[in-house]
Amino acid sequence: MLNKKVSDLLNDQINKELYSAYLYLDMSNYFERRGLNGFANWYMIQAQEERDHAMLFYRYMQNNDCPVTLGAIAKPDKVFKEDMDVLKAGLEHEEYVTASIHTIYDAANKVKDFRTMQFLDWFVKEQGEEETNARDMISKMELFGSDPRSLYMLNQELAARAYSAPSLVLD
Ligand code: MG
Repeated sequence: MLNKKVSDLLNDQINKELYSAYLYLDMSNYFERRGLNGFANWYMIQAQEERDHAMLFYRYMQNNDCPVTLGAIAKPDKVFKEDMDVLKAGLEHEEYVTASIHTIYDAANKVKDFRTMQFLDWFVKEQGEEETNARDMISKMELFGSDPRSLYMLNQELAARAYSAPSLVLD
C-alpha cells in the first residue's frame, strides 16, 4: 500500500493529466478555427499523449492496489486572442505540470517510496522534453509566424507529426 500523501498526489495527477488533454484539445480547436490544420494536428497529438499520461498514473495506482477516485475535470478557460497566446499557455502549463511531478517525487522521496520514484523518473524526463518542445514552438513562431508563407511551411511541418504511444508501458 502506498503512503496516503503519495497516493493522494498520484490520484490528483490523473485529473491534472486529463485536464491537460482537455486544454490541448481546446488549443487544437483554436487552430482548427484558424484554418491551421498542422497546428491543430500537433495539439491534438499533445492531447492524446496527455490521456496516455493519465492512464499511466491510473494503471500505476491500480497495480499497487491503491483506490482511484475520479473527480470533475475543469473547463479550459484560457482565452486565446492570437496564435502566440496558445504557444505561451502551452509552455506555462508544462512548467506547472513539471512542478506537480516534482512535488510527487519529493513526497515519495520523503517516505523512501523507491518504486514510485522509479515510476516517476520517466515523467521527469518526459517533462523536460515537453518544455523543450513548447519553447521550440515559441521560437519558430517568433522567427516565422509574421510571414504568411513561412507560417504555411511551419503549418505543413506540424501537420507531419504522427502519434506514437508512450515508451513507458505498465502491464
Ligand atoms: Mg502530461
